[in-house]
Amino acid sequence: MKEKIKLIYILGAGHSGSTLLDHLLSSHDQIESGGEIYKYLPYVSDTLGVRPFDNRYCGCGAHITDCEYWKSIKSIIAEEHDTYEIDLNVKDAESFAVNNKSVIHAMLQTSGKSVFCDSSKGIVRLKHLVDSQQFDIWIVHLIRDGRAVGYSHQKKGHGFLKTVYRWQKILKRHQKGLQSFGDEERIIRLRYEDLVENPAKHLAKILSRVGLNYSPELLNFRASEHHILSGNRMRWSDEQEIRKDVSYIKKINLLNWGMADILSGVSLKKQGYSLFKK
Ligand SMILES: [Zn+2]
Repeated sequence: MKEKIKLIYILGAGHSGSTLLDHLLSSHDQIESGGEIYKYLPYVSDTLGVRPFDNRYCGCGAHITDCEYWKSIKSIIAEEHDTYEIDLNVKDAESFAVNNKSVIHAMLQTSGKSVFCDSSKGIVRLKHLVDSQQFDIWIVHLIRDGRAVGYSHQKKGHGFLKTVYRWQKILKRHQKGLQSFGDEERIIRLRYEDLVENPAKHLAKILSRVGLNYSPELLNFRASEHHILSGNRMRWSDEQEIRKDVSYIKKINLLNWGMADILSGVSLKKQGYSLFKK
């Protein structure tokens, strides 16, 4: 395991479309993903109980304890570490490197793929992965209109304006973090709206950076099995297509729209989003 593992890291705020991008990328026959892989321990652990049993489904539809794929990963990890319950967020830098490399290597070995996609989204984890020097990393910074993110949270009962405010703070934190990363060649900035408008173009761009070829079959991402840590029994229903959903523009009321402009107008404008409600 001397060679660095090739890794695509999806960075972004919550509700930015990372699950869709993750599914599209990991439909490639050389890309494996576990979704938000930092959640490995709470998902596989039978002793910690930090995640309710009913909220531990694999993206393939099976409960994590019944999924053959995860059974295989757990047995590989157990052989290496005497237990499969290892923490991918451990603070100690050396253990972080060893544990993350173990799980990711086991997943690549089991799937027979060569590139790993980590859609954990956070900048701190990305920094730790870079510092570990175990991975050859490309970063996709996925950005979605903060008002769409806010509306998506609002539908779940969270505050719209609070989310929009948080969105621009996270965006700034991620941009600052990427500055220190330095290697511009390794950073791909992508707006979710552009991805769904022309997925072929943007997937091809990401894949070519990593040295892989695009094929139109990737767009049919539901055809392949995805063992991502999803929490949901079914991640995608048949009617969900890759499409631009701009219904939030109509649904956000004028007052909230104006307040969102005040809170995050500078960031929205910089990302090319219109401040006018059409
Ligand atoms: Zn599975």
